[in-house]
Amino acid sequence: MMKAYCPVCRKENEYTIKKSLIEDFKGFKVNVEEDIAVCNECGEELLIEEIEDDNSKRLYEKYRELSDTISYQDIINLREKYNISQRELVAILNWGKMTINRYENGAIPSTSHSDLLKQMINDELFFKQKVEEAFHKNRITKKTCDKVLNKIEEQENDILRNVIIKLLSHEESIENGFKKFDPEKFENLVSYIASRVTLYKTSLNKFLWYIDFLNFKTNSRSITGLTYQKYSFGPIIENFHYELLINTFDDKFFAEEFEYCTRTETIITSKNNFDLSVFTEDELKVIDFIIKAFENKNCTEISNKSHEERGWKEKSNREVIPYDYAEYLSIGF
Ligand SMILES: [Zn+2]
Repeated sequence: MMKAYCPVCRKENEYTIKKSLIEDFKGFKVNVEEDIAVCNECGEELLIEEIEDDNSKRLYEKYRELSDTISYQDIINLREKYNISQRELVAILNWGKMTINRYENGAIPSTSHSDLLKQMINDELFFKQKVEEAFHKNRITKKTCDKVLNKIEEQENDILRNVIIKLLSHEESIENGFKKFDPEKFENLVSYIASRVTLYKTSLNKFLWYIDFLNFKTNSRSITGLTYQKYSFGPIIENFHYELLINTFDDKFFAEEFEYCTRTETIITSKNNFDLSVFTEDELKVIDFIIKAFENKNCTEISNKSHEERGWKEKSNREVIPYDYAEYLSIGF
């Protein structure tokens, strides 16, 4: 039984729901049915909060649909995406203190507010400009500004990462050691190697090639799932994508350029936060073996060593070196 307090009868009474049609709302034909609670004894219309809320929700939903106004959920999603409070968002937008709060509670935004919010959602650069502007006009703190800008950078980086992962992930075949590109292993492996040796960008390719090929030879799979090509200095990650890789997957290491004699060298430095538990025991044996084999060699020596490998010798420039050449590796156990 549904019961509610009736102010006319001055007691809790049973009530019945009556339907009523709202045809027009703010210039739109909405045709939304409204529930109205009616006291069974006196016929008075009772105000019951939940019923009223449901009514407004349905009405506003319909209105939004029709008017293409931004929904409260879109606004909440925007705040969650950048991890900002209602207060921070109004400060960024330079709106009245309670504006966002009211919108998120179902009030319908004006067309200009709705359009602005939509642009904030659809255009990250615009959003960024608004945040920087709010900071320069002292409406938000440096802390808030940095928090949002970092979040934007993180998201841009995530997009770039996914592009690279797609670019490097191929069907399992002899060209990638029967493994799809594994960014987690790649990242941890580079960080670990860099923690053990002075790692130059040019040597990185050879370290990874030897590790992947030796692992293929002993455990019949590559570790990173990378595909390598012959290049004059030795095997390299396909299409020079190591450049993209080391600049994008930088949670566990960073690349720094510096002048060395007349040329620029890049050194990869470990952040020492690698996680070796992503590797199997057998993989770790291979990794440590190759690091030991090359730890006291310079770039030229490592390069020269790779030129002795059949996989490198028998291929022409830019050709893929398939993993079946692992069989002929000059080092291993
Ligand atoms: Zn009544």
